[in-house]
Amino acid sequence: MECKKEENLKMCNCTYPCSKKGVCCECVTYHRGLGELPACFFPDDVEKTYDRSIARFVALHK
Ligand code: SF4
Repeated sequence: MECKKEENLKMCNCTYPCSKKGVCCECVTYHRGLGELPACFFPDDVEKTYDRSIARFVALHK
């Protein structure tokens, strides 16, 4: 399967300088390994804090 990086980047709200941007499989694997979620699970104001914890995600949806 061909990576749709350019297409993915149109939906990416991540502001952190990172080589995984647009390569969603690597992005998810990385954050999952840290017990986190990728940037696109958070609204922009939370994304820019770089707190990608599951606890923060759950707090947003209480
Ligand atoms: S969400 Fe994390 S892994 Fe994904 S592009 Fe942003 S900083 Fe990189």
